[in-house]
Amino acid sequence: AQLPADSNLENTRRQVTEACFSYVTPKPTSKPQLLHVSPDMLTKLGLSEADAKSEAFLKVMTGNKVLENTTPYAMCYGGHQFGNWAGQLGDGRAINLFEVEHEGQNWVVQLKGAGETPYSRSGDGLAVLRSSIREYLCSEAMHYLGVPTTRALSLALTGDQVLRDVLYNGNPAYEKGAIVSRLSPSFLRFGSYEIFAARQDHKNLKVLLDFTINQHFSHLGEPSKDTYLQFFAEVSERTLDMIIHWQRVGFVHGVLNTDNMSILGLTIDYGPYGWLEGFDFGWTPNTTDRQNKRYRYGNQPNMGLWNLYQLANTLFPLIEDAKAMEAILKKYTTDFESQSLKMMRSKLGLRIESESDALLMQDLEDLLQITETDMTMFFRNLSDFKRDRASEGLTIINEAFYVPEELSDTIRQQWHAWFNRYGERLQTETLSDSQRKTQMNAVNPKYVLRNYMAQLVIDKAEQEDYSLIDELFQMLKKPYEEQPEYQKWFAKRPEWARHKVGSSMLSCSS
Ligand code: AMP
Ligand code: MG
Ligand code: MG
Repeated sequence: AQLPADSNLENTRRQVTEACFSYVTPKPTSKPQLLHVSPDMLTKLGLSEADAKSEAFLKVMTGNKVLENTTPYAMCYGGHQFGNWAGQLGDGRAINLFEVEHEGQNWVVQLKGAGETPYSRSGDGLAVLRSSIREYLCSEAMHYLGVPTTRALSLALTGDQVLRDVLYNGNPAYEKGAIVSRLSPSFLRFGSYEIFAARQDHKNLKVLLDFTINQHFSHLGEPSKDTYLQFFAEVSERTLDMIIHWQRVGFVHGVLNTDNMSILGLTIDYGPYGWLEGFDFGWTPNTTDRQNKRYRYGNQPNMGLWNLYQLANTLFPLIEDAKAMEAILKKYTTDFESQSLKMMRSKLGLRIESESDALLMQDLEDLLQITETDMTMFFRNLSDFKRDRASEGLTIINEAFYVPEELSDTIRQQWHAWFNRYGERLQTETLSDSQRKTQMNAVNPKYVLRNYMAQLVIDKAEQEDYSLIDELFQMLKKPYEEQPEYQKWFAKRPEWARHKVGSSMLSCSS
């Protein structure tokens, strides 16, 4: 039916049934301004630096111009939030603009914060600068760390003010509005399938699943019950692989709801995420999760599995083979055991597999938690350990302790004992100390986007100084390299940031 010319029906909030998406129009903004562009993503789209400086690029990436022959849309999905079915969620503030095919790779280009959609529920469809900076910097940093992730192309100010729940002196506070353009071969999530299953709409569930397989899992062959099962197995494997990477670098997602689980096994939705500073399995950056700590660091692998159970329930009507599906879920658990061992071996520079490794690691993890110990600094400095000089171990990693004075004699002795075992264990390896160092430094990053660093960038940006965005962006491009020019960022969280920063200021919807 023909819509009245001034109608905005396509963006009005509603339940959308029997459809994967809705056509929408991005909201024009008053004074768009680009703050940063990812050169690598430009290249991947076949664009030049000059293209990125054009008026058209600015307008398209801030929702002020819709390219001819393109039809922006917001996707419909549901999700389990914090363990409970939440019904329809959908892209409440994300709009897919178009898809680019370049050098054999497809990229969906999406704006986050470009206005309301049918899925905005009680939100405004907008994003503020602080959360946009965090998403932009972190998704690119994760890519350079070698973690499967969605990407970011640009970060821009809208020129509009956005009202958020941050109060200054009891008054509502307006913040700078911003838009990040994100990219992924697909933004489909577990929740994209769950919504159809929840509505008993198996017809469209199958349409979407067949589409997914044809587009993104075509190596599995023509869609059939058997292919669906293989698809589920591959999604499980990719999910585990992604989470093992998170554990390796100390990334805590913070909101592992099924609507934030990419069907491609990519890290998606950088909201109240955080990086481990002190190594702590119980830590979560998400203040709304402080009670149950469902999404704490040590529980991420379990939550991946929990989410896969939801996906299994969703796909069951199309597969109808509970035994085979259970076997896949069971394999996740056994694979987790073996892959986390493998990952920890790589962090410790061990190449040979020894029965005793699990205990060596367990004891290390216990020690790391007894006294607050910076994860990134510990593993990076550990590469300086010499296997014939185990007694120097504690000195080498001393810098990583937040409060070295807290180390009692008993704990010191435990550390010495551990380093002795580590030294002995390394005697069974064939690598030299320097070869091991090179290998360890390729898996233990020197630079990660610590919570306080993002906060410093944000504080400056609020005062119209955007220089730190690029400084951190450049540094995070080479997280495993020494980069002496950035040495000051290889440091523990400063004391002022202990309680102040983190996501005390961050909510999912900011
Ligand atoms: P998240 O916890 O960030 O994954 O968000 C959960 C749901 O809330 C998703 O459907 C989002 O699209 C939606 N949402 C989050 N923030 C906003 C906002 N400011 N306006 C509209 N929808 C939002
Ligand atoms: Mg989300
Ligand atoms: Mg979010």
